[in-house]
Amino acid sequence: MAHRYTLSTRDESLLWPRVPNGEAATVLALHAQMEQSQWLTEAEIESRRFAQLGALLTHCLATVPYYQEQFAGLLKPGERPDREAWRELPILTRSALQQVGDKLLSHSPPAAHGRITSKQSSGSTGKPVRIKTSAINNHFFHANNLRHYRWHEYDPTARYAGITRLTAAQRKLSAAATPVPWMNGYMTGPFYYFDVGNSASAQAAWLRRTEPQLLTTYPSNLKNLAEEVAAERIALPRLRAITTMSELLDPETRSFCEQALEAPIHDMYSAQELGIVALQCPDAETYHAMAESVLVEILDEAGNPCTPGEIGRIVVTPLHNFVTPLIRYEVGDYAEVGHTCGCGRGLPAIKRILGRVRNMLTLPDGQKIWPGFGSRGLTAIAPIRQHQVIQKSVDELEARLVTERELTVEEEEQLAEHITRLLPSKMSVAFTYLANIPRSPGGKFEDFISEIDNP
Ligand SMILES: [Zn+2]
Repeated sequence: MAHRYTLSTRDESLLWPRVPNGEAATVLALHAQMEQSQWLTEAEIESRRFAQLGALLTHCLATVPYYQEQFAGLLKPGERPDREAWRELPILTRSALQQVGDKLLSHSPPAAHGRITSKQSSGSTGKPVRIKTSAINNHFFHANNLRHYRWHEYDPTARYAGITRLTAAQRKLSAAATPVPWMNGYMTGPFYYFDVGNSASAQAAWLRRTEPQLLTTYPSNLKNLAEEVAAERIALPRLRAITTMSELLDPETRSFCEQALEAPIHDMYSAQELGIVALQCPDAETYHAMAESVLVEILDEAGNPCTPGEIGRIVVTPLHNFVTPLIRYEVGDYAEVGHTCGCGRGLPAIKRILGRVRNMLTLPDGQKIWPGFGSRGLTAIAPIRQHQVIQKSVDELEARLVTERELTVEEEEQLAEHITRLLPSKMSVAFTYLANIPRSPGGKFEDFISEIDNP
């Protein structure tokens, strides 16, 4: 369905034609170019991207102490890299980023890039990553957001509800039920905030009152909410679409939530320090990398690019962060390279995004796999409100449970069998009972954590 989009205007005395203010105008100009560039071939995109990377690397060599050391002998200022030269550049790991600190800051970021702000990743590992970005990075964030809404044909007049970890300012808006606009560059319906710290029943009650057509939240929270909605037979008849972000969305959670909430999910792959990295294709079951703002590499253990169907480490280079440039930054997530997408867009295809290394299970022979515990099946065995599985050693798991009552020995046995039935090697399961399994400070929730490489 084609929706009517009305540009925002800087003043209600400027009604026709409309005159967007500075930031909205920039976002709209970026998005207009991205509407074209998404249809370029991968080769055309790569060539344009290397021009931008050349500018970024020249800036790094001139103004960033860390890269002056790291790139010595590898690059000359003013040189435009090619594929081979690029692959010679070292990978920046998350822990290196945490240790290097201010040596990654440019001592003279371009003034034209605008206001500089600090960004802190939510750090599910408990170790946050701090970097700085400029206004340009915010503009790209909004332009990619706009692409998400346009790709999935979100009605701009829709009422939109966001259940996330709120900032102090957002909490005030939430308490007063004051709406904000939700799409930079266009007039929109109201967006209402609600804190993810509220219980699923409080969230469901709020959604019934707020009656949104659109909803955004984290996958783990959406799952709790969908369970509440299904158990209490709550109807949200106006809901049309859901955007998920910040966490891994597994296929099981997706299909359960889409069914329980009777709305499609559109997932976003993003990180605080990188902005929006990939969006779900509107026409196929794949993600597309946001090639105009990030270079996404998916690399095997030897550092070579994976081919379609292969799974590797995600390495991202934001093309326009000249304040804390991140060159070949290893995010810590894994992904499977997609085949060229049938939609015709040249934006690189990512078949699926997998979790972090710490969310992988280590087998006795050292191999790592993503464990499937059939989370939904657990509640069929016993009244479990929340669960988290921890790998203590190669043959020991701990199941942390929040339950409605004490479990019987038989239930524990059934649960242990259910948890281990899909695993390729034998493992014991010890049970721990908790009143609550907290989210990380960033609001994220992990249902499996390995302590093997992360004590
Ligand atoms: Zn596509």
